[in-house]
Amino acid sequence: MSEPLLRVENLVKRFPVKGGILRRTVAWVHAVSGVSFTLQPGETLGLVGESGCGKSTTGRLILRLIEPTSGSVRFAGREVTTLPESELNALRREMQIIFQDPFASLNPRMTVGAIIAEALIIHRLARSAAEREERVVELLETVGLRAEHMRRYPHEFSGGQRQRIGIARALAVSPRLIVCDEPVSALDVSIQAQVINLLQDLQERFGLTYLFIAHDLSVVEHISDRVAVMYLGRIVEIAPARDLYLRPRHPYTEALLSAVPIPDPTVQRSRIRLEGDVPNPIDPPSGCHFHTRCPIADAKTCRNVKPELREVEPGHWVACHLRS
Ligand code: SF4
Repeated sequence: MSEPLLRVENLVKRFPVKGGILRRTVAWVHAVSGVSFTLQPGETLGLVGESGCGKSTTGRLILRLIEPTSGSVRFAGREVTTLPESELNALRREMQIIFQDPFASLNPRMTVGAIIAEALIIHRLARSAAEREERVVELLETVGLRAEHMRRYPHEFSGGQRQRIGIARALAVSPRLIVCDEPVSALDVSIQAQVINLLQDLQERFGLTYLFIAHDLSVVEHISDRVAVMYLGRIVEIAPARDLYLRPRHPYTEALLSAVPIPDPTVQRSRIRLEGDVPNPIDPPSGCHFHTRCPIADAKTCRNVKPELREVEPGHWVACHLRS
């Protein structure tokens, strides 16, 4: 196997909770608690979990849009977490992000052409205004929009079209890695498929690597080579997509998968309903974070001992005391 493009090791992020008149730190939100994974060039890793599990924070930490508490992020052999500010700009050319809500991330006062051209200006990727315009048109057409769209404003577009604009903006700097942070969650199901197909085409065409974040396993099924499942700041299972969908090992993955509709009506899958809500990340449960909701939890071990990720078959890792 080739050298990973991205290697994340033991990544931790805690956010302070301020309180009192003096706004002192009174508690910590444990958003990401020791996340590790690698991403090969050209690969797509789906990162899935309920909202608040730390998946979007993980994406932002990788791009250093927020600073980690500890841990390592190596991109193309360089340590990202200690990179001086002066070198971050060059790095951001290679790593881009597509957001869930393209409308919120597109400046409403700028035309689409200006939004896409901005990245070309910041990174000095065009020698003249004419060359810049030519590149903007090329990018719009690459994502299925037209040249005349460059003179319009974001509010004149549908949700799916706005996401295409966000993708064109990310592509403008010819990145190697794109963090897709729930890029289709806000879209209708029919539009979701179009955007996912577009992302797959672009990956093939430009050799892109994706970290594809979603809260729903059905969204990442077809685009992912591997899938990692997160619960309360930790990865609980990571495996090749096919293995994970056919033979999930972690009880939380089983519960998430049981909620995914199966298109074949002859195949039955009983729904596993988890009791209770996701615990508060300010005070996560001891031992296995999932023990308060796990249908097979062992009162002693699961409550007291943190399960480490173990490789149960080649490439398939699970953090559970009772599953192998
Ligand atoms: Fe459930 Fe225990 Fe496995 Fe955690 S370690 S998932 S509580 S069985």
